[in-house]
Amino acid sequence: MSEASATQSLLNVNALLDNPVFAGGFGLASLGAALAMARRGAIAGAGMIRRRLLVNVEISKQDPAYPWVLAWLSQPRPQTSFLAKRLTRINKLSVATATSTTPNGPTRASFFLQPGYGRHIIKYKHAYISVNREKQATARSNTGEPHETVELTTLYAHRHIFEDVFTEARQIALQANEGKTVVYSVRNFDWTPLGEPKRKRPLTSVVLDEGIKEGIVGDVKDFLQRQKWYIDRGIPYRRGYLLHGPPGSGKTSFIQALAGELDYSVAMVNLSEIGVTDDKLAFLLTKLPERTILLLEDVDSAFVNRKARGSDGYSGPTVTFSGLLNALDGLSAGEERIAFLTTNHIELLDPALIRPGRVDMMIRIGEATRHQAGRMWDNFYGDVDQDGSGKARFLNKLDSLGLFGSSEDGAPPPRTSTAAIQGLFLFNKDNMEGSIDMAEALIPQKIEG
Ligand code: ADP
Repeated sequence: MSEASATQSLLNVNALLDNPVFAGGFGLASLGAALAMARRGAIAGAGMIRRRLLVNVEISKQDPAYPWVLAWLSQPRPQTSFLAKRLTRINKLSVATATSTTPNGPTRASFFLQPGYGRHIIKYKHAYISVNREKQATARSNTGEPHETVELTTLYAHRHIFEDVFTEARQIALQANEGKTVVYSVRNFDWTPLGEPKRKRPLTSVVLDEGIKEGIVGDVKDFLQRQKWYIDRGIPYRRGYLLHGPPGSGKTSFIQALAGELDYSVAMVNLSEIGVTDDKLAFLLTKLPERTILLLEDVDSAFVNRKARGSDGYSGPTVTFSGLLNALDGLSAGEERIAFLTTNHIELLDPALIRPGRVDMMIRIGEATRHQAGRMWDNFYGDVDQDGSGKARFLNKLDSLGLFGSSEDGAPPPRTSTAAIQGLFLFNKDNMEGSIDMAEALIPQKIEG
């Protein structure tokens, strides 16, 4: 374009702008455009500020930290400034109830207040944290419950606070369970605490035959110190124990006491339960809670199923033999796994189960022996029977009833269980003579069939 024509077009634009009608319209349009741009800019800017200046952490209900964080949020926090007091109160609370049940129905219930759904602001140390607890009606977890999350947001500059939050939340959870043993059972596709954590059962309260308890406890402790040994040799870091014997001999009680001794939880699944299928078992074993002893009860049912399968082709939705082996061999959640398998019917088991990592030790926990009856006596009457004469009379009476020895006519002697001895002592709590007088009650009743 020549210089002359450029000057000409500039003059035309100036003339246009001098026109009051055009200038007003142009002014309005550009103002509108500028406002729209500013709005877009503000939204983008806010988004950028959010991304740059804020940092958030989302915790899903499936994560073990979820209940810890809720418990942490429910802690009272003293606020000093007026603003902090107004801003950081959680007004909307929800209640979580834990009940412990007995065969006769619910006995105790505890209530915990948790932050309700929605957004809250809290102040922790020098940082403000926005908490958003949300339930998503459309997304469902494995348990069939709506998916839930808690999102914590704070300034980027305060992001290190999250480390303290999680450490503190975990400490609160540990303190709440101090001196207690958490027992998990299966609910849908998840491990759920079975009632409230139970007070740790002292190992001394479980009386097994001479050397048995010490042998197992020593082996488990040795295993727990050998992680490196296993890793160096490329061996899965697992150990399995099979406890077999009649009911009421203390198998379950021993495992609970052992968990208490090691500061572990117990994750319990009964394989005879309808609905515990191969897939479910395999899945559950991939997500065992940390520091947990896996307890598979009634493992014989997996073998019974196999036999039933052969005869009628279908035995109901329970675990099969191969399902059990696959689950034991498959992926496990953590690095280590201690599994206890129990059965009252060792004769039904398959030798394939006895393989390192599946079952490394088989221990019979049998009927009460003289040694056990004596130790249980000491636990119950030790302080009133200081010279031991009551114990001697009690044991002699059990001898005379043939409860420990072989019977003269060659028939198997009647044997009694430690659970029955405990029952007798509980009936005669402060009355050792009563236990001696009633010792006949320990003779198992024959069930005529
Ligand atoms: P199991 O698992 O072998 O069937 P449990 O551990 O469930 O037996 O015992 C049933 C009850 O009997 C529990 O209340 C337990 O305290 C008591 N009991 C059984 N055996 C013993 C034992 N060896 N020492 C202490 N208590 C026992």
